[in-house]
Amino acid sequence: MGSDFISLATCGVQNLNPYLPGKPPEELERELGLTNVVKLASNENPMGPSEKVLSALQKSLSGLSLYPDSGGYKLKHALSKKFGFSPEQVTLGNGSNDVLELIGRGYLNPGDEVIYSEFSFVVYSLVTQATGAKPIVTPAKSWGNDLNAMLQAVSEKTRIIFIANPNNPTGTWLTKQEITSFLDAVPENVLVVLDEAYTEYVDEAEFPNGLSLLSSYQNLIVTRTFSKAYGLAGLRIGYAVSNTEIANILSRVRQPFNVNNLALVAAETALDDDEYLSKSFALNKAGMALYQAELKRLGLNFIPSVGNFITVELENDAAPVYQAMLEEGVIVRPVANYGMPKHLRISIGLDAENKRCIEVLERVIKHE
Ligand SMILES: *Cc1c(COP(=O)(O)O)cnc(C)c1O
Repeated sequence: MGSDFISLATCGVQNLNPYLPGKPPEELERELGLTNVVKLASNENPMGPSEKVLSALQKSLSGLSLYPDSGGYKLKHALSKKFGFSPEQVTLGNGSNDVLELIGRGYLNPGDEVIYSEFSFVVYSLVTQATGAKPIVTPAKSWGNDLNAMLQAVSEKTRIIFIANPNNPTGTWLTKQEITSFLDAVPENVLVVLDEAYTEYVDEAEFPNGLSLLSSYQNLIVTRTFSKAYGLAGLRIGYAVSNTEIANILSRVRQPFNVNNLALVAAETALDDDEYLSKSFALNKAGMALYQAELKRLGLNFIPSVGNFITVELENDAAPVYQAMLEEGVIVRPVANYGMPKHLRISIGLDAENKRCIEVLERVIKHE
């Protein structure tokens, strides 16, 4: 090749490290000739999709030759009725990931500054770097977002601050008081993105509902997803709620049909399936209690988590433990790419999956 096609790319993209997904179970089964692989690596819902969703999807299959409703009318109305905002405030995305990208595309110029914490969701850095904006990464406090450090990092050039509550990959959380004091202090021309991907799992009295803060803070964008507690990660659907001007900007940069027919139908159905949601919550709560007790028994430290995953600290580099667990058919998530080389993140699974994971972890660390 006469040209260097890497250097022809935009500056932001040349320096980008692509997202590292959890290993798909089929891939591991193929590589190692295993069966019965357990994947506890991507915080997916271990129950599988709800029966109600499956039957609604079955009925909607005949509509596949048609383009989806670009405006997402029914889902936006259902969301606004359920949570109390107007449909014009909603932006639907192909996963909430898509919406995070739209925020970057709509609001970031090269050279703008974007603040997020150490040990935060990698998509924030991807969105920032892809647009040529400058990441300002603040040090974490007890593995979570340090809002004071973030406030101090705000400059004339700051355009966006990303905060996940609860945080991934650490499971830490911020109280309503902490969030509102922070929002009170952030200049209104700085967008604050509150990523609430795991909000449905949290059972803490002081935990805020970002949606209820929208009317007080015009620069707030709340993102949510159907990928976790609603069990629809494979269909890719999530959304942002913001003021209508921000929603208008986001709608300009999205693909006209960024959310497909099936995802719309599944999300509309899932939104009303309270039974499934309560089961997800209860299963997660019981699984979390099991991990906490068992990790203590094994003498392993972990970061207290309110999400659907728990991040465990090993004595040494976690990579060999990850590899040895893989070979036993249990996929967990190394987080070295988040700057946490001694930790492994484990998604809470079904009871039998959790027990198998703990058994394998115990065996592997004893042989280390
Ligand atoms: C899983 C996750 C999401 C959701 O991503 P989708 O694109 O909606 O599947 C968003 N933010 C964080 C912090 C997550 O961990």
